[in-house]
Amino acid sequence: MPRIRIGAPRYGLSDANRDGMLVKIKCHACCITHCYRPADLITICGDVQLAEIAGFFRCESCGSKVTLSADWLTARGGDLNGLRIRRLVGVRLVRVFDWKDETL
Ligand SMILES: [Zn+2]
Repeated sequence: MPRIRIGAPRYGLSDANRDGMLVKIKCHACCITHCYRPADLITICGDVQLAEIAGFFRCESCGSKVTLSADWLTARGGDLNGLRIRRLVGVRLVRVFDWKDETL
């Protein structure tokens, strides 16, 4: 992982994508971890920094947002061979209707 210094330019998903890194998102309640390519996450989150990534997700198992954390994952000597990566295959937009009761 590259050193990130205070006052240094921000290091975002596009930088991680350029450097060949992955993003690991873990739910600490369920101990479930998924790994993502930064380019896929840019589609969802935009070019955000590491601390902001987890806020865009919800655990698929327990539904929690607050127990998620994100971290960079770097390849060292091919130790990522065989790693299971979650790829973005599409984005669906869901329409949600908000109702309000009124008295005539
Ligand atoms: Zn969970």
